Amino acid sequence: MTETRLRFPPSPTGYLHIGGARTALFNWLYAKKTGGKLILRIEDTDTERSTQDSIQGILDGLNWLGIDWDEGPYFQTEFSTDHLAAANQMLAEGKAYKCFCTKEELEARKEAAMAAKQEMGYNGACRNLTPEQVAEKESAGLPFVIRFKVPERNGMLGYDDKVLGRIEHSYNEVDDFVIVRSNGKPLYLLCNVVDDIRDRITHVLRGQDHMTNTTRQVLLYEALGAPMPVFAHMPLTLDLKKAKISKRSHGEIVAVHFYKEHGFIPWAFCNFLVLLGWSPGDDTEIFSREELIEAFTLERINKSNSIFNYRKGDEKFFTDPKAIAINEQYLRTMDIGEIGDMVQKVLEKEGLWNAAYAGEKKEWYLHTLALIRDRFHTLNDFATLGRAYFADDFQVEQKPLEKNLLKFPDLKEWLPLLADRYQALEQFTTEETERVAKELAEEKEVKPGVIVNGMRTVVTGQLAGPSMYDILMTLGRDKVVQRLRNVNRFFQQAD
Ligand code: GLU
Repeated sequence: MTETRLRFPPSPTGYLHIGGARTALFNWLYAKKTGGKLILRIEDTDTERSTQDSIQGILDGLNWLGIDWDEGPYFQTEFSTDHLAAANQMLAEGKAYKCFCTKEELEARKEAAMAAKQEMGYNGACRNLTPEQVAEKESAGLPFVIRFKVPERNGMLGYDDKVLGRIEHSYNEVDDFVIVRSNGKPLYLLCNVVDDIRDRITHVLRGQDHMTNTTRQVLLYEALGAPMPVFAHMPLTLDLKKAKISKRSHGEIVAVHFYKEHGFIPWAFCNFLVLLGWSPGDDTEIFSREELIEAFTLERINKSNSIFNYRKGDEKFFTDPKAIAINEQYLRTMDIGEIGDMVQKVLEKEGLWNAAYAGEKKEWYLHTLALIRDRFHTLNDFATLGRAYFADDFQVEQKPLEKNLLKFPDLKEWLPLLADRYQALEQFTTEETERVAKELAEEKEVKPGVIVNGMRTVVTGQLAGPSMYDILMTLGRDKVVQRLRNVNRFFQQAD
């Protein structure tokens, strides 16, 4: 059996976005599934729009997602000789021709065709020039493009799409398209095919927005005498208004780096991406890397467009709620050691990392993460919502401040009193700390909640969280006592 060879060929004209990342992921999954290879090719022939920053962004994005490749990155511009050789071969074999029509002529014809409500494609004016006519125009120094000569046939032109089934067009729907510009530069349609042939690509898996290209490219494979790869077109990803997602209309939210910066777990994000265009056939949503490679098939790629469910200005969700929900699921269930490594990077960035967390305090560190992760959405939450576990300079959120402290000014005395009693305890345990807090509530004739919520607020800055007494044990007596005594700083924060 021949080895499957897939490719991811981004044009480096912007950052790696959700659509591109999803394409890369699908190709990667299929390569892994079939024991094949993934080739990374940077399609940088549009020299005006290609940038080094974009290339770096794409590589960084793929690395972050954990999508690795077996060959490349190849750079398309390094293969212009191949592209031109293919064009010349087709010229020599009469499968392409030089076209001397000027821009003005083309425009005028287009307008006339439009007015007469006729086909607007190229009318074939230069298709049948004699070799003498061509030589004459060339020696007069007239500029020309090279056009592919679409065969005159009656039948249908098409291919079997692995996702969509048979796709067909009649030959006269396709006009003679340009493969080399008048400045001698070959066009994407040609370069892409020549490179896929050279790279021995067996499967072209890309977005449905490329289907018009595929129709033309099928003809190029035939003309170049190369076997056609399997084509599989993936649905587009649209927003809630059914518009294609793009940087222009959605901003950074569609960029892969946004998710990296917001503390998403790379594989969790891949898990989200795969569901934007593929389904396992049942309602399973969470897949480990191995499970997904096993389950993935081209046939189960969705035919209809997928929706990136994001409402601008949605206060609760800063991106598609499903992306967040999947991330939470991983956050809660992933091996705590792995979470520990990822949170380390976040804490380092925020200046909250302590070398001891990797040494003598490692057990404490992992235990604390396991305790607090249940309510978090992203890795960044460990440094923001969880700041009180790693530093003393945390703030209290407005809601608990009002609800749990300002409403009960007596806490200014009661919490320091509680601190004294905790200080005096022989054993600082969950049972003892709970007993003492409840006794204090009884003594002051308030519900235990008043004391416990007040304590939670000054100790963690948060409205909710894990069991209060587990928190006390994690933070340790010294910190707890010190924070309870310091209750005034929070009343001052409110002033
Ligand atoms: N460079 C093209 C793009 O980024 C590649 C399309 C393809 O053939 O997969 O859209």
